[in-house]
Amino acid sequence: MRSHTAYLTLNTAQRCEIVNITDRVEAELAKSGIKEGLCLVNAMHITASVFINDNEQGLHRDFLRWTEKLAPYSVDGYDHNRTGEDNGDSHLKRTIMGREVVVAVTEGELDFGPWERIFYGEFDGQRQKRVLVKIIGE
Ligand code: ZN
Repeated sequence: MRSHTAYLTLNTAQRCEIVNITDRVEAELAKSGIKEGLCLVNAMHITASVFINDNEQGLHRDFLRWTEKLAPYSVDGYDHNRTGEDNGDSHLKRTIMGREVVVAVTEGELDFGPWERIFYGEFDGQRQKRVLVKIIGE
């Protein structure tokens, strides 16, 4: 069995933002040379997500509006912020949108369903963060 590990770096312009990272994951798969296996992609921070959905800008705005409605940004609205942080909302948004995805690798390609793409969901951005890509197989 072979494995390939990569750390993608992201630094979003907005505090909350959705970024399509499919091409970057596919580039790592190509580098790995693995033809059959599994590809794990996870956010390495507890205020950011990795999820799979449609690459449609309206849907991305819907996700951002929906998470903001469920967990609105509020400096004094969360017990977590009594620690001196202001990102209580970001932790909740991350949990709603998920930590990681696993995609099957078949014949050297990510074996997506129709319209599936991989996205990074940032909920406390404007600083450097990492995403782990781990591909195992042969
Ligand atoms: Zn925090």
